[in-house]
Amino acid sequence: AKVTRLGPSPTGFIHLGNLYGAFVDERLAHQSGGTFYLRIEDTDDKRYVEGAVEVIINSLKFFDINFDEGATIDGHIGDYGPYYQSQRGEIYQCFAKELVKKGQAYPCFLTSEELEEIHTKQEAGKENFGIYGKWAINRNLSIEEIEACINAGTSYVIRLKSDGDHELPAEDIKTISVEDGIRGTLTMPENNQDVVLLKANGIPTYHFAHVIDDHFMRTTHVVRGAEWLPSLPIHVELFEKLGFEMPIFCHTAQLMKLDEEGNKRKLSKRKDPELSLDYYRNEGYHPAAVREYLMTILNSNFEEWRIANPDASIDSFEFTVEKMSNSGALFDLNKLNDICKDVLVKISASELCTFMKNWSKEFKPEILPLLEGHEEYIEKILDLGRTGAKPRKDLIYAKQIFEFIRYFFDDYFRIEDTEPENVSREDVKSILTAYLDTYDHGDDQSVWFDKIRNIAAELGYAAKPKDYKKNPDQYKGHVGDVSTVIRIAVMGRSQSPDIWEIQQILGEERTRRRIKERLE
Ligand code: GLU
Repeated sequence: AKVTRLGPSPTGFIHLGNLYGAFVDERLAHQSGGTFYLRIEDTDDKRYVEGAVEVIINSLKFFDINFDEGATIDGHIGDYGPYYQSQRGEIYQCFAKELVKKGQAYPCFLTSEELEEIHTKQEAGKENFGIYGKWAINRNLSIEEIEACINAGTSYVIRLKSDGDHELPAEDIKTISVEDGIRGTLTMPENNQDVVLLKANGIPTYHFAHVIDDHFMRTTHVVRGAEWLPSLPIHVELFEKLGFEMPIFCHTAQLMKLDEEGNKRKLSKRKDPELSLDYYRNEGYHPAAVREYLMTILNSNFEEWRIANPDASIDSFEFTVEKMSNSGALFDLNKLNDICKDVLVKISASELCTFMKNWSKEFKPEILPLLEGHEEYIEKILDLGRTGAKPRKDLIYAKQIFEFIRYFFDDYFRIEDTEPENVSREDVKSILTAYLDTYDHGDDQSVWFDKIRNIAAELGYAAKPKDYKKNPDQYKGHVGDVSTVIRIAVMGRSQSPDIWEIQQILGEERTRRRIKERLE
C-alpha cells in the first residue's frame, strides 16, 4: 500500500497544478489501498495568508479529493502529526542538532553582507569565494570558536556539510542515479552545496523539513512538480545523512499551454486566470468534468479507455505513473469544455439542477430565487433535447447553463438576435400573426409543424420553385426562415433546441404573450 501526501503552502492561491498533483497522489494511494494525507507547509510565515488552509481543503474537496489523514481546518486526523510544519519545530531542531553532533552540519555565522559579497565575487568569476573557499572557515570552527560566536550573540544558520566535492569543475562532479517513478533513471551531479537546513530564526528550509516529514509520516511516494528536480541531489544527500530510506520521487510534468503563436509555454499566474482553481468554481465547472479532463492529460491511455468504457466510473480506470507524460502536459481549455459537454450529457437533470443551486448559492446568489422552488420547471429545461438518441451536447458549466435557463424566465428574457435578412419586416408580422391565429397549445409536434409549413407556403417560403434560376427574386427563403422568426419571438435567439418542445415548457400563456409582444 502506498502512502502519498500533498504539501501545499498556505499562500492563498491554489492552482491547477496542485489539483493535478493531488489527483495523482489520491489515485496512487487509493488504488493500492493506501493512505493519502495532507501536510501544511507553513514554515514561511511571510507568505502565510489567513484562511488559506480552509481554501485548500474546501477547493480540493469540491473536486472530490479527500484526505485520509493529516491537517484539518483547525487540527489533525491521524497518528503521524502534527501535520502543520509550523508545529514541528522541535523535531527539525532535534535532527539538526543530531547532524551537527555527527559533523554533518554546522552553524554558519556569515552575515548577509558577507554572503552578498561571496555572490558578487562568484559572479565576477574570481577565485573560489564560495562558502567553501576563502570563507570555509565556518565549516571547520572548533567547539570553542562556535561557543564564542554564539555567546557574542552572532546570528547563524545551520548548513549541511556536503560530502560533494566542491573543488571540481562542474563537468567532473561525481554523478548519482535516482529512480524517478515517472521519469525512470535520472543521472545527475551529486550535491556539493552546503545548503541551509535551519534559518537564523530556527525555521527549517523546504529541503530539510520535507525530508524529515516524509520519513516520519512514512511517505512511500513523493509526487511533486518538475521544478523540484534540480534540488533532488540535495534531498538524496539529506536522506542518506539522516539515515532514512528514500521514498520514490515522482516528478510530474509542468502544465503548459499553447500561446497565440502556437508555442508551448508554462501557465502563468498573471496571464492565465484558468491556472487558479477558483476560476473553475466561479464559472461553475462540474468537478466530475474537471477530473475527467485532468485524467486525459495525466494518462496517455485514458481517452482510449474512456471510449471503450463510456459509462464506467472514472475510479475504475487503472491509473499508472508509467503512462504519465514527462515532457510537459498540455492544458487546453477548449478540450476541457468539450469534455464537460460529454460529462454533463450523462448527468441527470435533477442532479444538474442541484449542482446549479449549489453553485449559485456561492457565486450568483441573485438567481437563487429563480432556481429554488422551480425545480420541476428547471429540470424540464435542462432535459430539453438531452433525452433522445442524439442528445444535444452544449451544456458546459454553470454560468453558461444559466445563460440558457434564463430565457425561460420573463425577467431575464430579451431579444438578442435579428431576423434573417431575407425576411422583410412585413413578413415578420405576417408570419407571427398567422402563427398566433393558428396556435393551438394542444397540437402535437407533427400537426404544429404542418401549420408552420402552411404559413411558409402561403407567404412564399417553401421549396425553391422550378423556375428559381430564371426568377430568383420570387424565392424569399424556406421554412427554416419562418421557424427562425418564430424562434426569435419565443426564445430571443436564432439558435435553440426544438421550438415546439420549448413552448410546451413555457406554457401557452407565456408563449402567446411573447409572440404578441414581438408583434407590437
Ligand atoms: N510546499 C511545497 C510547494 O508548495 C510542496 C512541494 C512538495 O510537494 O514536496 O510547492
